[in-house]
Amino acid sequence: MAKDELWHGIPRKDIPWFPTVDADACIGCTLCFLSCGRGVYEMQDNKSVVLNPYNCMVGCGTCGTVCPTQAITFPERDLIWKLEREHKIFGTVRKESTEKKAKLDAAKARAAAEDAVAKLTTRTRFEVAGGFGEKRFLVQMEELAKDRPFDFVNVNLNTPTVKGAMENTPSFMSFEVTSTEQADIQEFLPEVRDLIRRNGLVLASENKL
Ligand code: SF4
Ligand code: SF4
Repeated sequence: MAKDELWHGIPRKDIPWFPTVDADACIGCTLCFLSCGRGVYEMQDNKSVVLNPYNCMVGCGTCGTVCPTQAITFPERDLIWKLEREHKIFGTVRKESTEKKAKLDAAKARAAAEDAVAKLTTRTRFEVAGGFGEKRFLVQMEELAKDRPFDFVNVNLNTPTVKGAMENTPSFMSFEVTSTEQADIQEFLPEVRDLIRRNGLVLASENKL
């Protein structure tokens, strides 16, 4: 624990809330050592030892609850209630709660924004087969995207021969449809499919990237 750590405005070292282990009753089962997430305990010679008492979370009693031999004890809870009253901690508690809520709200808003972005389709890869040459398919692609926030990228035309392609020898083309503004392209995709269909080409695959 940091030297100057506070519990709702009260120096933690001024609060005597921590476990005490009765070594005679301890059977070394290690449940307390395992259950505590704050590094309060260490096991020494098959006994549980309270090594860092002020790491203990004020008000927690988990290790005492799970101890099978009731070897662990705590001060009376009145001690905490008295401190709460004497130090008038509730103004601090409310301020901390407001800050916590603001942090949670910000995390939720960030998660929602990330979720919305993840749902966007900003790039989709198409694989198309058929005869491309005489249909001037590339020109039609260019016209479709002209003056719009979409583009065709990574265009690959795999054709056996250039002359053959012009004579409509079956070829294979892959390309990606993308947004030039990192926006959703879903409204544009039906137009791309329609272009493929109108040209008598076969849509082999379509995958969101
Ligand atoms: S849970 Fe109880 S018996 Fe088990 S190690 Fe801790 S103090 Fe000992
Ligand atoms: S009361 Fe909680 S925080 Fe404190 S030592 Fe036990 S398990 Fe750890």
